[in-house]
Amino acid sequence: MLPIVILQRLSLRDYPGRLCAKVVVPGCNFRCRYCDNREIIFDYLEKEWIHERDVLNHLYRVKGYLTGLCIGGGEPTLHNGILLFASKVKSLGYKVKLDTNGTRPRRIRKMMEEKVLDYIAMDIKAPLDRYPQVVNHKVDIKAVEESIKLLRRGGIDYEFRTTVVPGIIEARDLEEIAKLLVGSKRYVIQQFRPEKNLYPEYSEIELYSRSELEGFRALVSPYFADCRIMY
Ligand code: SF4
Repeated sequence: MLPIVILQRLSLRDYPGRLCAKVVVPGCNFRCRYCDNREIIFDYLEKEWIHERDVLNHLYRVKGYLTGLCIGGGEPTLHNGILLFASKVKSLGYKVKLDTNGTRPRRIRKMMEEKVLDYIAMDIKAPLDRYPQVVNHKVDIKAVEESIKLLRRGGIDYEFRTTVVPGIIEARDLEEIAKLLVGSKRYVIQQFRPEKNLYPEYSEIELYSRSELEGFRALVSPYFADCRIMY
């Protein structure tokens, strides 16, 4: 069974072009300093889980009104149960989107082969050589690269996205990332949300302004078919 700790019954921002529900799966193999999911990264085994059946019942009831489910986290691909859960959601007629940090390419590939995914949003945390510094953890960079390749030639809809945090990700980092991903379909520059951060000092950080974000977009948009900002 897939551990689920949050069911968001309606989301307007987690599936491009669709009204969706979202489930949040706990646990992560990164420790990004700016993470706003502190509560689901640590001690999640003690949390009360939401049964898959309750999620599926909700989806059954709102079918036609919602058309997608986003599976986010944490890092959902750490869990074996994700494939079966996604196939159950698909069998209800829903489109399934996965939010991932891309560190489990074998599982992503398997889900693509089994046709249980319709959209993948993969976080690109930093230029590859800065990953360990930004995610604050050991990283299998080859796995991240493999996931990037999978998405780019996998035949399903996808986006790459980077959360921009002042002092951690700056214009030159975005330019490096854009060179790495050049020619990809969609790239999203994501505003940082200073809420329940893993490290409290990031809760008080001054965010990039709208005009700075627009400047980032102008810098990297020539590398992509579609480049957006998510506030
Ligand atoms: S922000 Fe980093 S630590 Fe937090 S859930 Fe995402 S990948 Fe994991």
